[in-house]
Amino acid sequence: MLFPVSDTETADAASNNVGQLLLQLQGLDTAADQAQHRKANLAERETLKSVAESVIAWEKRCNELTALISAAEDAIARAEQQSGEIDVKRSRLQEQLKTVIAPREAEALQHEIAVLDEERSTLDEEALIKMDEQSSAEVELSALQAQEADLRQQASAATTAVTEVEAAIDAGLTDIGTQREQLVSALPKALVGRYEHVRAKLGVAAAMLTGSQCEGCHLDLSPAEVDEVRRSPADAIPDCPQCGRLLVR
Ligand SMILES: [Zn+2]
Repeated sequence: MLFPVSDTETADAASNNVGQLLLQLQGLDTAADQAQHRKANLAERETLKSVAESVIAWEKRCNELTALISAAEDAIARAEQQSGEIDVKRSRLQEQLKTVIAPREAEALQHEIAVLDEERSTLDEEALIKMDEQSSAEVELSALQAQEADLRQQASAATTAVTEVEAAIDAGLTDIGTQREQLVSALPKALVGRYEHVRAKLGVAAAMLTGSQCEGCHLDLSPAEVDEVRRSPADAIPDCPQCGRLLVR
């Protein structure tokens, strides 16, 4: 004997269908949330950040060393000029000394020459220190310059990696968006409204009722509550009495 499909059965099928669509919508939204989270926490971005910091530190140190070398060169040039002036002055005093007869005058000249020698020796020492500074700065700078190509390459690769991963995630999100539009247009407007309302509060808005447990809050419904959910109109999507999520039977 053939039984005609009753209204209740049709409604049940509709409810099942709507319920399944709702779960698919939830699945898409969860996937989109995960993609957004992944995009916000990319390991590739951390790598890029760290490489960018290395580049900044590298540039800063190169600039410091260049300034240091230039300052040392200036100081050495100044010391050389002052030494030259002292040498001229000293020769003049030496010549004067040859012509001086009075011992007191000779003593005064010798004292002046000794002061000049002292100044000259201080200048020499300062120049040597500056030459050392210059030399070690040049060694460090040239070692840094040897790293430049590698560092720039790392920065470029890290930038590309971030761009590529972001583009892949964005493409996935666009795809999810398209599927979502189709699902939303297939669902009753009021139901989508309820779904969005709960989703804004709880993140996950639709959950399966498995046995007596809501898969959304993982709490058991009492036998009376389960009974009420099961006996609610076939085309209705009831709320979970525990968490308020839309319960799909
Ligand atoms: Zn629940």
